[in-house]
Amino acid sequence: MAKGRILSGNRPTGKLHLGNFAGALANWVKLQDDYECFFMVADWHALTTGYEDTSELKNYTRQMLIDWLSAGLDPERSAIFRQSDVKEHAELHLLLSMITPLGWLERCPTYKEQLQQLSGKSITNYGFLGYPVLMAADILVYKADTVPVGEDQLPHLELAREIARRFNYLYTPVFLEPQAKLSQVPILPGIDGRKMSKSYGNTIALSDPPEKVREKVNAMVTDPQRIRKSDPGHPDVCTVYAYYKGLAPELIDGRRQECEAGKIGCVACKKELANVLLEILGPIHERRHELEAQPGFVESVLEEGAAKARPIAVQTMTEVREAMRI
Ligand code: SF4
Repeated sequence: MAKGRILSGNRPTGKLHLGNFAGALANWVKLQDDYECFFMVADWHALTTGYEDTSELKNYTRQMLIDWLSAGLDPERSAIFRQSDVKEHAELHLLLSMITPLGWLERCPTYKEQLQQLSGKSITNYGFLGYPVLMAADILVYKADTVPVGEDQLPHLELAREIARRFNYLYTPVFLEPQAKLSQVPILPGIDGRKMSKSYGNTIALSDPPEKVREKVNAMVTDPQRIRKSDPGHPDVCTVYAYYKGLAPELIDGRRQECEAGKIGCVACKKELANVLLEILGPIHERRHELEAQPGFVESVLEEGAAKARPIAVQTMTEVREAMRI
């Protein structure tokens, strides 16, 4: 039976952190076994909010890609490419923008939310309003039937489905309606217990050296009511426990019992967590060192990825132009 096809991607944000790993990357690595995968560095998407300063775009792309490859994305099995290297995304975005009612975009819940959240930035631009159309083009140009998403991205996927439906209705059926693959991915907090974000300076980067990882784990906030080792702890309010839950679920039952019974101290608990993290990060670090020592490798992965992706996008655009009689 033919494998399903997946499209997923990320804006280039530089080096990734453990939250990115647990929230998406680890899942993508597994999906490669069962799907034909297209993983895209969404550099045009980065411009929708970050168009003013593009000085780091290429460097961020490179760093993110090294993390992807180090964590196990495999260019032999998957097409790993940069969005701007496959111009068909832009053409399809343009054509789909002709048939997408403005109201669909204005109603998109994330549009209003982001406008508020990023109120310091000037993002009342067409590109920002229209980015769900670009996202639809990214998916539809490969006729991807499956898109791994979190709950928060469901409205975007629904929009892509509506746009596909509208196109197929107005012209000739060309597009599949992509289905969501909802993944129960763990959300890791930052080391201070807030949302993990580079802007808060509370992340653990995949590339952090072991001593830095230990230092950060030591600085994690725990149960504030626990003073002595013998005090019964409350793992549900503890950042350290959240990491066990997200990255070593096989250990959580034992950890909870020991914590609640006051049988383990936070220092020892953190030490063990650091060991768990370093076991995950060790092979990733090794691979990163290898990749950094191979100049031109990242660029060649992007070139090969685009060469795999492009023929499919070209074929879809031939069908699209034919359907639209242009
Ligand atoms: S023992 Fe571990 S889980 Fe319990 S409060 Fe301390 S660090 Fe958190």
